[in-house]
Amino acid sequence: MANTGTTKNYVIPDGPWPSFPKPLPDEIFSSWLARLARANFTEPCRFTSMYWPKTNIWNQDLDASTPVEFIQYLSQKARIDQASIEATLLTSLIGRYMSEIDTNGGQLGILAVKTIGAKRQSFGMQFCPRCLEEDRIPYYRRSWRLTPITICSKHLVKLADRCAKCESPANFHHLSLFHSSLAFCWQCGSELTRITTEEICPQSGVAKFNDLILEGLTTGWVRINEETPIMMPMFLEGIWRMVRPFLRNKHARRFEESFRTNGDEGFVGLDSFTFGSRIDRLPTSDRFKLGHVLGHLLCDWPNRFVGFCINSNITRKPFRRNVGIPPYWLAKVLNTELNKKPYWTSEMEFDSAISYLIGRGYQLSRGNIGSALGLNRSLYLNPERTKKVKRLINKQKLSKDYERLSPVFNFCLHR
Ligand SMILES: [Zn+2]
Ligand SMILES: [Zn+2]
Repeated sequence: MANTGTTKNYVIPDGPWPSFPKPLPDEIFSSWLARLARANFTEPCRFTSMYWPKTNIWNQDLDASTPVEFIQYLSQKARIDQASIEATLLTSLIGRYMSEIDTNGGQLGILAVKTIGAKRQSFGMQFCPRCLEEDRIPYYRRSWRLTPITICSKHLVKLADRCAKCESPANFHHLSLFHSSLAFCWQCGSELTRITTEEICPQSGVAKFNDLILEGLTTGWVRINEETPIMMPMFLEGIWRMVRPFLRNKHARRFEESFRTNGDEGFVGLDSFTFGSRIDRLPTSDRFKLGHVLGHLLCDWPNRFVGFCINSNITRKPFRRNVGIPPYWLAKVLNTELNKKPYWTSEMEFDSAISYLIGRGYQLSRGNIGSALGLNRSLYLNPERTKKVKRLINKQKLSKDYERLSPVFNFCLHR
């Protein structure tokens, strides 16, 4: 796979490159590739176009999908075994963290970077300004690309996802060699280490949620209570369902309001609320707030979650709508604790309710029947019962005493 010969004005040397830095702990592939290029005195985009002219490798989310031949080529030229390079890719998290990567953007566990013209347009490459400041060689972590991660567990601060001055997302592969490291904004040249970020209380919901995610990343399992260890991919599947009502539902504002009143008064609404938003496309600030919600709802599982839903009059429906059955650990709670299907009365009970109303001179109506049966006044009837009730109501209306019948049954019942 050695690439020799001339490309445009460059003479491409054969053999390994003069400098070959190893990936640093938890370093993400694109960060290592950018450092590799810079260590060989070439800007990253030029470096890859010289040595890999087949395609513009930066024109995709190369942390999530890199051609295997490119990895093999890098392995030879940078004298690093292939497994060490593969460990920097997001695909190495398949199995332990998530079930699969959909390169068309179907994977919610990986933050979207939306690349156009080799530039990342969205804010999917987060960073901790303090980590970048402390690093002897500043580099970007693989965990900073993960959707549920919004804080740095080392410094307990909220991660940043853009330059504080010009609001550009991180595009460190476009930094010129004039900059001494990757810790600068590619657009305006500001030092990203100077960004001030919010400090986090270790007892806050978002810190607790972050602890669960780190546990899952380390062991592959999450323990939300004493009896329930959950496989990490199943845990993620469940938490995407739990935040859906806050994002995709037309009643999302009501959920936010309920959380503020029944969950945590410190919660404020999402900044970039848009109907139908996907969580992997939200900025860090909004995912941070959702992390807070989740940390709160997962605490003392499932009691606090069930209490929140009951107090807010939320049924299982918004957690299941259009997405099929949730993973078992969540489905079990939704089905047993939040299944509010109305009790369906027997024919005998139904008929005796009607006789009771007629016998005591009450007006026949759907609401009055519901009240007589101890059900909701907006009683749902099957077609057969609707027909029967309509016929009886019409018959009752023909009676000359109809006007004198009591229209509000439950008022009369309890008098
Ligand atoms: Zn940090
Ligand atoms: Zn900037």
